[in-house]
Amino acid sequence: MELDTLLDILESSVRETLKTKPDVDQKADPSLEDIPGQGSGRWLKIPELVAVVFDLKSSTQLGTGRHDTSTARVYKTAVESAVQILNEFDAQFIDIQGDGGFGLFWGELSYERALCAGVTIRTFSDELVRQYEAKFTTGEFPDTGFKVGIACGRVLVKHLGTPRNDDEQEPVWAGRPVNFAAKAAQAADRNEVIITGSVWDHFEKNDYVAFSCGCGGAPSDGLWEDFTIAKVDGSEGFGRRLEAGWCDKCGPSYCEAIRTGAKKRDDIPDSVRKALAMTAMREAVAKKAQADRAHRRNLNALRSKLH
Ligand SMILES: [Zn+2]
Repeated sequence: MELDTLLDILESSVRETLKTKPDVDQKADPSLEDIPGQGSGRWLKIPELVAVVFDLKSSTQLGTGRHDTSTARVYKTAVESAVQILNEFDAQFIDIQGDGGFGLFWGELSYERALCAGVTIRTFSDELVRQYEAKFTTGEFPDTGFKVGIACGRVLVKHLGTPRNDDEQEPVWAGRPVNFAAKAAQAADRNEVIITGSVWDHFEKNDYVAFSCGCGGAPSDGLWEDFTIAKVDGSEGFGRRLEAGWCDKCGPSYCEAIRTGAKKRDDIPDSVRKALAMTAMREAVAKKAQADRAHRRNLNALRSKLH
């Protein structure tokens, strides 16, 4: 095809697509077969979806060494472990992108399955790093390990790609979840899970998530730290960061409890619950003050413009 012809065809195709508002079907718990094909004029809307993005730290440095097969083995072990974990927690869709990827969860217990998968990837990261460090000489090998981000929200999805060629089409997930989860994973250091504001809102009142087990002394609310995620706008950017993986002793039962929808534990002292409630209240007051300051700044700016 001549270049001019190609550009002309693209120009009119873009114009045509932008002109027509597509039809959107909504389903809360669709199957993959419900995702419209490339030729369809429709998109599928999933109102609530949770995305787990995993990413290997310093992977770009891995490629610069002399040993191509080390990089190849690192990619294979890392990607395949994470994918197996996402499968284990019934991710409905998994995509690999280089040395990272993402899993998508929707429908029943989607937040719970997603969080369990994310924390399990983070937990396994320790073992992965241990094996890499034993195998490869330091100096040749950068600090690595999984960075995990989790975000939620609505998406529109359909297959895009080459018309009439299924092998060259992929579902494309338009919306914030995958994008924000990727930013959260980028903001994480190795062996960390970062969740966005709404994901934390979902788990704030879940004892198995919000409080640590008693193995380090007594259950505490110190598991998750406030974390502002760079380049994620609005309240979603006020996220939380987790450094711990599953406890060796309690992990299996906690993971099972979360995954099956349990929320209440009876081993958490009232004083600890009260402390968490106080922190939440202080945060709300601080956020309100911040919003008021911004509002006053806008008013002053407006006044100075008027004068
Ligand atoms: Zn424990």
